[in-house]
Amino acid sequence: MMITRVRTGDQALIREINLSIILNALRDHPPLSRAALAVATGLNKTTVSSLVQQLLDADLITETGVGKNFTGRPGILLQLNPQAGGIIGVEIGVDFISVVLTDFAARVIWRHQERTDRRQTQAAILRCCLAKIEAAVAQANLQSLPILGLALGVPGLVDVESGTLLYAPNLHWENVPLRQMLRSRFNFPVLVDNEATVAAFGETYFGVARGSHNVLYVSAGVGIGGGLVLDGQIYSGGAGFAGEVGHMTLEPDGLLCACGNRGCWETVASQSALFRRVHEYVATDETSALSRFRNGKREELTIPMVVRAAEEGDWIARQALVTTGKYLGIGLANLVNALNPEMIVFGGILSLAKEFLLPVIQQTLRERALRWSARTTQIVVAAHGSDACVMGAVAMVYDQMLRQPFKSLRQAA
Ligand SMILES: [Zn+2]
Repeated sequence: MMITRVRTGDQALIREINLSIILNALRDHPPLSRAALAVATGLNKTTVSSLVQQLLDADLITETGVGKNFTGRPGILLQLNPQAGGIIGVEIGVDFISVVLTDFAARVIWRHQERTDRRQTQAAILRCCLAKIEAAVAQANLQSLPILGLALGVPGLVDVESGTLLYAPNLHWENVPLRQMLRSRFNFPVLVDNEATVAAFGETYFGVARGSHNVLYVSAGVGIGGGLVLDGQIYSGGAGFAGEVGHMTLEPDGLLCACGNRGCWETVASQSALFRRVHEYVATDETSALSRFRNGKREELTIPMVVRAAEEGDWIARQALVTTGKYLGIGLANLVNALNPEMIVFGGILSLAKEFLLPVIQQTLRERALRWSARTTQIVVAAHGSDACVMGAVAMVYDQMLRQPFKSLRQAA
């Protein structure tokens, strides 16, 4: 008879998997007793007790007192420890930097957002970003939270393995080794990915799309980004660049896009397109609330200003939103026909104008997508709104911790 020995490496792997199962059960159904954890995970009670002790020793979970859970029997209840550590989520947008610090319950305990300008140099924007991350680390130190990790979303193509931003058309950045730069400064794990992919992950992890398996996330800001979750997995494509929906051609002879092509979706349906329309209309009308943005004061216009004007009945704001919504709907109709997602999650700064955009998008989808596909696709606004990327970044670190708790703790040490 042949005896198969479990190698030490395998044992460590099995332990890590079992720890992950316990942590995920506590994320999904908190709080649970040890007995309930055994039932929920199918692991035997002795194994559960030993794993729970290891997680208590690492401060990743905490006892919350005696109570009854779904087994009906009283026992000491356990939950993830919010004080286990801090997680930093960062987004470098085309015209802003956003940083959040959360605890291990993914509750935001500090945040900062700053407008940037595309005319600033790459070095200046990165310096500003590093300063904000340092401020987040200082906040975590004040609250005695060790940083468990940081994830960063950027508006472009990313080599996820090396954490290098390969190309961000609207920022005009190429080959920026972001992870390497952050790792040389901070000693916690760093993940870098495309902003829409990060947001798509976050919305399926703890947002509106939790439990959905086929999700198209579209973020509309200065450009348009896309993130795909197919069959419950982030879909990255052959080389990792899937989801660049903003650069599908909608108008063959349209405006020049930052990517070099003409008539891309983002030239007609992004924040830039909306602002361009506002400026075209105000040139013909001095009575609009937005008329003060004539004469090149374009940089000062913001989405909340357009929304406020639309709420007050301003025709220019409303017309610009309707036209932009229509173009958003046309692109989405193409994507619905191609992908038949269960859910489209709409995020990015334009989601602040949801009240005006969503009805037009829905109308356009009804008119233009194949009705069988359109009928089965729900369109919703991101649970985390314009924070979808930073919260998605938090979700990525969180998921990494829950999948490989001790490996992640070693890297964070
Ligand atoms: Zn383009």
